[in-house]
Amino acid sequence: MTIEEHRTPDRPADLLTWMEIDAGALRSNIRTFRGLLPPGTRLQAVVKSNAYGHGMEIVARAAAEEGVDSFGVHAIEEAERLRAAGIDGHVLVLGFAAAGQARRALRARADVTVYTPETLDAFAAASRETGLPARCHVKVETGTNRQGLQPADLDSFLDRALALPGIEIAGVSTHFANIEDTTDHSYARRQLAQFADASALVRARSPRAVRHCACTAAVLTLPATAFDMARVGIGLYGIWPSRETLASSRTGQGGEVDLRPVLTWKARIAQTKWIEPGEFVGYGCTFRATRRTRLAVIPVGYADGYDRRLSGVGHVLLRGGRAPVLGRICMNLFMVDTTDLPPPAIEETVTLLGAQGGESVSAADIAARCNAIPYEIVARLSPSIPRIPVQGNEAAP
Ligand SMILES: *Cc1c(COP(=O)(O)O)cnc(C)c1O
Repeated sequence: MTIEEHRTPDRPADLLTWMEIDAGALRSNIRTFRGLLPPGTRLQAVVKSNAYGHGMEIVARAAAEEGVDSFGVHAIEEAERLRAAGIDGHVLVLGFAAAGQARRALRARADVTVYTPETLDAFAAASRETGLPARCHVKVETGTNRQGLQPADLDSFLDRALALPGIEIAGVSTHFANIEDTTDHSYARRQLAQFADASALVRARSPRAVRHCACTAAVLTLPATAFDMARVGIGLYGIWPSRETLASSRTGQGGEVDLRPVLTWKARIAQTKWIEPGEFVGYGCTFRATRRTRLAVIPVGYADGYDRRLSGVGHVLLRGGRAPVLGRICMNLFMVDTTDLPPPAIEETVTLLGAQGGESVSAADIAARCNAIPYEIVARLSPSIPRIPVQGNEAAP
């Protein structure tokens, strides 16, 4: 095999590693979630953390074309990035907005999550200075004990907010603690009941406030969580939050929900070589060959987000088969065993995450091998690796 025969012709030959982002699969997942939500419920695409590693700009542009109603980010910097990319739809900062960031948030036309009086005051001041409205979503604590205002403090908080010129109570939200980690949704139902009360209170005083609490697993397993908007992250990327969510969804919905993975991570083989029985591979000499072994060197490592916990247990896809990781993952390289596969060419493309032929390595597979969750596997993919949009796996509309 020559190098040329194994270069995918439409891929830049100047990349060692890249990720293909399947806009068709993303569109299909967006339609799937729209279909699961009641007609009046808006869909927010959660694109924090570089769109769960998928590339914020590529994902947001494709989602905007598909008509999603809103974008959820963690931080004001991410809201600014969306604006710089030409996204002009609704953006909500889900994380903490520091007082010193208030003017930036308003200039980025971002809605913000609030739960402390200090934040309200800072945004009222920023609104005065800039002449821009401060659209605030009150986050209510219902049992996650992460960000949120105690329900008992809600009335006095609203008194203060509604007395401040420039402050608009645009929404009310909460977040579930125990919905993707279990098939027992009793804790989530208790949170939901608390949210129903708190959001009714907010609505009574600010009738246009958008009520939202559902994440991916809530949409898939507890339809009563839909309210006015759902904040969907992991599912839009074609990844199930957990095995428990998959199981609950199967029992609840009847048919299987079709989520299509959006990201495929590829790299080119840097070297192939034979080693003899008794030779070692990699740092720490953790792998010792028991037979003549043909290695391939992959120019990707833990610095790229290829988890070091895949040492000795991961696989890459090559020539229709699986090549096991040998020894430890290095910072920028790792080695795989290709002895049982047809001989690969130098610069041949291997798939690290995604499907190739009939085989696949999913984020869930990697997470299971790493004692991690699929969220962590994709969110830590290095942002410096190029993301290339492709049109692939779209369901017929
Ligand atoms: C990340 C996040 C979401 C999205 O959760 P998924 O499980 O990825 O759908 C929703 N709401 C908040 C507050 C979040 O931080």
